[in-house]
Amino acid sequence: MTNPAPLPLVDLEAQRRRLGPDLDHALHRVLEHGQFIMGPEVAELEAALERRADAAAAVTCGSGTQALLLPLMAWGVGPGDAVYVPAFTFPATAEVVALLGASPVFVDVRADTFNLDARSLSAAVADSARRGLRPRVVIAVDLFGQPADYEAITPVIRDAGLRLLADAAQSFGAASQGAPVGRLGDATAVSFFPSKPLGCYGDGGAVLTDDVDLAEHMRSIRSHGRGAGKYDIVRVGINGRLDTLQAAVLLAKLRIFDDELARRQTVADRYAACLPEPVPAPVVLPGTSSAWAQYTVQLAKRDQVADSLRRDGVASAVYYPAPLTEAPAYRHFSMAPTGVPVAGRLATRVLSLPMHPYLSDGDVERVVKSLSAAIGV
Ligand SMILES: *Cc1c(COP(=O)(O)O)cnc(C)c1O
Repeated sequence: MTNPAPLPLVDLEAQRRRLGPDLDHALHRVLEHGQFIMGPEVAELEAALERRADAAAAVTCGSGTQALLLPLMAWGVGPGDAVYVPAFTFPATAEVVALLGASPVFVDVRADTFNLDARSLSAAVADSARRGLRPRVVIAVDLFGQPADYEAITPVIRDAGLRLLADAAQSFGAASQGAPVGRLGDATAVSFFPSKPLGCYGDGGAVLTDDVDLAEHMRSIRSHGRGAGKYDIVRVGINGRLDTLQAAVLLAKLRIFDDELARRQTVADRYAACLPEPVPAPVVLPGTSSAWAQYTVQLAKRDQVADSLRRDGVASAVYYPAPLTEAPAYRHFSMAPTGVPVAGRLATRVLSLPMHPYLSDGDVERVVKSLSAAIGV
């Protein structure tokens, strides 16, 4: 008997086949006009992102990490400032804070949605003065594609006079209470890393905001702090631009993006309908849609299950194996007064299953069958 083909977590090949010659033509046009930096495709993409997210401004940049860095730089975040970040996230969320000399303060997350817990956030903000830190910004992560619980955290943030930066690296295309990702924070950072829901063929990112002054400020920072002229340098900036070739890739992928989002939702519905009883489907809050960057379940014997799936040729991944509070680079920073016990527990239980728009019902059934066998049901 031959083994079935391995089932990958994401399938960029299937997407590439679907895009076909459109994509090749788009890349060819850039090779022909030769404006590899800030070519016309970059402005075209920014306009398309503004329309898609219903945001006043989209500022593209070199990565999702830069998309987090640009607003923090524009807001003048620095030493003595506290920036509240969930303990259960990708390192980039905290690293931009530390890079600016500010202090990440780690906050616990909800056990059901994996996203910021409003009570832990509120306690962390209240505790900051005691630690000699000035509360400035909250970075809310929309983990695995689901917007954070903005209804619960926004009042805490407004009451304390803080800014809200949404880390939407995984959630572009999702919505909450009728508002698309891009309008849920004062600024929203998106990543176009290849495996994100909207990915390019390299690194890329964008900041979405309704604050046009902030957008101008970030445009200056991403081009070495330039003012009106190229060598009119008005502030310290960085090289933070998106390549024209990547903008061309993203324009081609945006055309099929809404269809891909709908397919991801279909796959999520299929999983929810056939997961074995002891494995609950991920919780999506009422009034919220997810971009389903990952389909993440919680399992008591996570590592054993992952090994068993691997033997069946089914890929899975652990996002994330430890809270950032345990990382050698971050463990000396402070955290919410009651710690981050939920983040610690999730790190031992989470497992992300294959999730992409090109999974068939049969593929989902194969994953579920393998999972059921692994947990003995
Ligand atoms: C991917 C990711 C980032 C960083 O994006 P890059 O484009 O890889 O720099 C930041 N935050 C979260 C939550 C992510 O998943």
